[in-house]
Amino acid sequence: MNQNVIVLNCGSSSVKFAIVDAQSGHANLTGLAENMGSHDARLSYKVAGEKHALSLPSGASHQVALAEIQRIIKAQPGEPIGVGHRVVHGGEKFKEAVVITQEVKQAIAHHAIMAPLHNPANLMGIESAEQAFPGLTHVAVFDTAFFQTMPEHAYLYALPKSLYRDHGIRRYGFHGTSHQYVSEVASDTLNIPYENINLITAHLGNGCSVAAIKQGQAIDTSLGFTPLEGLVMGTRCGDIDPSLPSILSKQLNKSMDEIDSMLNKASGLLGISEDSNDCRTLEEAALEGDANAQLALQMFCYRLAKYIGSYLVVAGPIDGLVFTGGIGENSSYIRTTTLAMLAHLGFTLDENKNLDARFGNSGNISAEGTPILVIPTNEEWMIAKDTQRLTSSTGA
Ligand code: AMP
Repeated sequence: MNQNVIVLNCGSSSVKFAIVDAQSGHANLTGLAENMGSHDARLSYKVAGEKHALSLPSGASHQVALAEIQRIIKAQPGEPIGVGHRVVHGGEKFKEAVVITQEVKQAIAHHAIMAPLHNPANLMGIESAEQAFPGLTHVAVFDTAFFQTMPEHAYLYALPKSLYRDHGIRRYGFHGTSHQYVSEVASDTLNIPYENINLITAHLGNGCSVAAIKQGQAIDTSLGFTPLEGLVMGTRCGDIDPSLPSILSKQLNKSMDEIDSMLNKASGLLGISEDSNDCRTLEEAALEGDANAQLALQMFCYRLAKYIGSYLVVAGPIDGLVFTGGIGENSSYIRTTTLAMLAHLGFTLDENKNLDARFGNSGNISAEGTPILVIPTNEEWMIAKDTQRLTSSTGA
């Protein structure tokens, strides 16, 4: 039976799209419309292994791109069964994926206060797609939902409680779809029932986060109210002294918006290396003896090892440590450096397996002791599976 799901990730200036078989995870079609609203708007896609590219009219809107995407999707054989939308912020309202209704759209709009760059774009994508695919069930899959199981002592900040009560100021976590996907794969790989599994999962890409999972439920994660807290990331600083923004604003005579932009866009690996936010570029520079690149990578691994250590306290004893995301799946250097700091906590790396587990190869890279799994993430498949489940349960 056809289980094809259209998966849409509508960002502020791009639309990622795919047709994914919810059963097998195979993506029959993948594509990206980028630079929406600019003179350089373009669309590329891959179908049956063949790449195609087309330029869009200068300044093309999301609607224009979605019209093209609709045409491309309709040219594929087999009618899709539903449309799954990635939505960044679901607040406390959405603890799992839901069929999109008017009320759901209002709630996504309401949560835009907490994700001003993402939720409005997600909503625009949903509304355009509803027009483009009116006969299909549309499902929202939230990046925050997986972390709604965190206990109060983990998600609250030690701030006046009224900020939580009146304004929803708390830690929400992000990358939930990825952490959930790799946790489910780890449960299969280790042959441990999902509801019994204890894991630490590290999603390391341009954005980075670690999650502590106890008995199949997320109990802590490193991203907070926004995706800025926690680990050192490509351009984001992660944890800093909370006094710094106001001190910097005064000292540098910059507005809080400018400081915010610095913390989000000019910090992390880029800020320390003064060269690049790209882990691959920095690894090459570090190997050639570039001290700034070496320091940036060292700080990245040091912070990551500290988080893993602290999550061993709350989720341990764990059944496995999982690496995913562009860096987690590919950088044997980051894995080696991080795990060297954790050797006394029961992690031993098999260097040959570590080197093999790159470029789409996965597996257990530990020599002995706690399993260390490299698992390529697949958020699109997770979205397709949620969509398929909800489409069949609503009888649509
Ligand atoms: P993502 O956001 O998941 O696409 O991940 C992007 C990050 O993965 C960038 O920092 C890339 O440099 C990094 N990355 C991708 N491939 C490799 C590789 N072979 N070695 C090291 N880092 C990599």
